[in-house]
Amino acid sequence: MGKIKSITAREILDSRGNPTVEVDIVTPRGCSSAKVPSGASTGIHEALELRDGGKRYLGKGVLKAVHHVTASLAPKLRGKDPTQQRVLDNFMTLLDGTPNKSHLGANAILGVSMAIARAAAFEKKLHLFNYLATLTKRKLLLPVPFCNIINGGKHAGTELQFQEFMIAPVYATSFSEATRCVSETYHILKTRLEKKYGKSAANVGDEGGFAPPLRDPRQALELIQGAVEEAGYADIIKLAMDAAASEFFRHGMYHTPKKMKPMELVDYYDDLIHTYPIVSLEDPFDQDDFTPYKELMQKTRIQIVGDDLLVTNVNRINIALERGLCNALLLKVNQIGTVTEAIDAALLAFDHRWNVMVSHRSGETDDTFIADLAVGLGCGQVKIGAPCRGERVAKFNRLLQIEDVLGKKAAYAKWKHG
Ligand code: PEP
Ligand code: MG
Repeated sequence: MGKIKSITAREILDSRGNPTVEVDIVTPRGCSSAKVPSGASTGIHEALELRDGGKRYLGKGVLKAVHHVTASLAPKLRGKDPTQQRVLDNFMTLLDGTPNKSHLGANAILGVSMAIARAAAFEKKLHLFNYLATLTKRKLLLPVPFCNIINGGKHAGTELQFQEFMIAPVYATSFSEATRCVSETYHILKTRLEKKYGKSAANVGDEGGFAPPLRDPRQALELIQGAVEEAGYADIIKLAMDAAASEFFRHGMYHTPKKMKPMELVDYYDDLIHTYPIVSLEDPFDQDDFTPYKELMQKTRIQIVGDDLLVTNVNRINIALERGLCNALLLKVNQIGTVTEAIDAALLAFDHRWNVMVSHRSGETDDTFIADLAVGLGCGQVKIGAPCRGERVAKFNRLLQIEDVLGKKAAYAKWKHG
């Protein structure tokens, strides 16, 4: 098997125009690259994204992380076998030596980790999703796309506090049918928004969803459900939300904009779930506010997803399992910093009959690694934003390509919750 000949890294831009890390790994077969994503509504327990500080790029430069790749990681990984993902990921984690990768930076380590996976797939002459399936030992599955078509919170400049209002074609029969349903609904929603609020309501936020001048989550759900019905997909498309509630939790209260105590917010969600066809709710409460999580889990049977709550970290997942806080993991590779640890987080979740949703970040690039990861994990769900903006569409298109490559073997996920 070909060994790693060289590793280089550079500073590039993400979809918000902020710097991020790109890594190239050269093996005898050629060059494999990876680009690192970046969040805005980040959880406080996430692995550390190393930024330079100072004046350059308003403090957001990543030259230190780039230097850590080229000066610390590259010399030690040269000559190693890229097909030893777990060994190499463990080696980098140990070399960092901190619990949250704050020494080398999770952005440095993850770029190398993803590029190693690509190099290994290349060496083994496998598609990336096939190679990742050899690591996960799971069946390939085309995922249901969870598509954020109204953006709020930190991803838009409006007063809508809940961050994401998604459509999920859970009863489509293929990924291409799912994509068509999503795209048609998205365009019908655009027309409805323009008619109701004027052309500027169709401006888009960080994940390609519209950012109309709304305050009340019910208005957003009403508008989306209207578009789903007009499109004729009420039997196929269900709704989902990411409240990203850590962002509006202050001094024990949720500022949504109506101030609510945790238990009032539980009742509020319960009411929304009974009024709209919501099948999945992410981060309904602050990342460390466990009591209402437990309460909501007892009230509802829908999918409750932990993002900031779990940060793709097995320690946080174990806490949530012990206390019964949620029933699904949002998996973001840069929250933990290596491909191996991200896969371990997913496998732990599967072992306890949780669902797993692979997710993009609000700051993305054209890298499509997560599309392959979702298929190779066979998790059945992927969060990739709206069918708009190059960095989001890249993931749709990669999944369409994978479906085409698999042909008759391309199984689309069956919905198991809600
Ligand atoms: C999210 O919260 O699920 C998300 C994708 O946003 P960010 O990347 O800003 O954390
Ligand atoms: Mg989230």
